[in-house]
Amino acid sequence: MEQHTLKPHSAYSGSCIILTTKHAKSTHCTKCDTPGWGKVRVETGLTCSGCGTETKLIKHEVHGCTKCSYEETHKPSHGLEQAEPGNCQYCNP
Ligand SMILES: [Zn+2]
Ligand SMILES: [Zn+2]
Repeated sequence: MEQHTLKPHSAYSGSCIILTTKHAKSTHCTKCDTPGWGKVRVETGLTCSGCGTETKLIKHEVHGCTKCSYEETHKPSHGLEQAEPGNCQYCNP
């Protein structure tokens, strides 16, 4: 049996979609709330798991603001804590 209930589904989900899209599109600076926050540079020097020498692999990603000078360091996209000895100049010259 089908019951007819009056629930404003379409209007409700409509406003939700707008909010979600707005949030995902542009990231704002946590300091001054200016849109355009993102990766500005990377810092290399991830240490080798074999010998501890700094390699050319990315150690940190630096995210920053286009307006103010606020910056944050993030984990690199490769997600490694240490470099493979194969990427090391000392272990694998
Ligand atoms: Zn090494
Ligand atoms: Zn800012």
